[in-house]
Amino acid sequence: MKTIGLLGGMSWESTALYYQQLNKIIQQRLGGLHSAKIILNSVNFAEIEYLQQQGDWAQAAQILQHEARKLQDAKVDGILLCTNTMHLVAPEIQQAISVPLLHIADATAKYILKQNIYKVALLGTAFTMEQDFYKDRLMAHGLEILIPSAQARAYIHHTIYNELCVGKIKESSKQAFLNIIEDLKQQGAQGIILGCTEIVMLLPEQNACNLPLFDTTLIHVKEAAEFMLSEASF
Ligand code: GLU
Repeated sequence: MKTIGLLGGMSWESTALYYQQLNKIIQQRLGGLHSAKIILNSVNFAEIEYLQQQGDWAQAAQILQHEARKLQDAKVDGILLCTNTMHLVAPEIQQAISVPLLHIADATAKYILKQNIYKVALLGTAFTMEQDFYKDRLMAHGLEILIPSAQARAYIHHTIYNELCVGKIKESSKQAFLNIIEDLKQQGAQGIILGCTEIVMLLPEQNACNLPLFDTTLIHVKEAAEFMLSEASF
């Protein structure tokens, strides 16, 4: 089995899901007492979130490059950046290391297309929904992307940072997300990308609404498990 490096802590609530799900999948695949070979490097999210707010992506990239190199020095075979948003600086991180950074948007797009779904809505932080880095990556695979209204985007962004990243799960927020999803369905979305690694905490049931929900945390973990159990170097 290859060793995976998790670059996490953004937030630790979802990194805990990565750790748990990766172990579960490896155990299911290999049986018995098998578990995942993981090296976890978890940052202080407050430092990263401050830089996001300042729009200082260059400094955030430098920090994550440094932390990714530490994982490489610890001899991981590949790295997962356990957040959608910080893939904004994925190219800079990949430049700083020679092991592969398994991109969450590539894994997500491939997973969706396998189900013959082409038009999906993207929920995530304002950075993920509004800037091009993530949508462009999905569209390069052939997907059509819808995003919620400006008001809904602001609400989702606020909920991610003020509730989900601090472990607060509120029924009223879940209902609000379901209303936003219903609206996107009316606009033609065939599925919904939970494009923030904490949203699954609010919508854990696959049948929470009558559209397929694509949980990027789980999809990223599945991609990592394939990588870890494959002969090939990705
Ligand atoms: N974990 C979230 C994401 O997947 C948001 C936290 C962050 O800004 O990194 O985008």
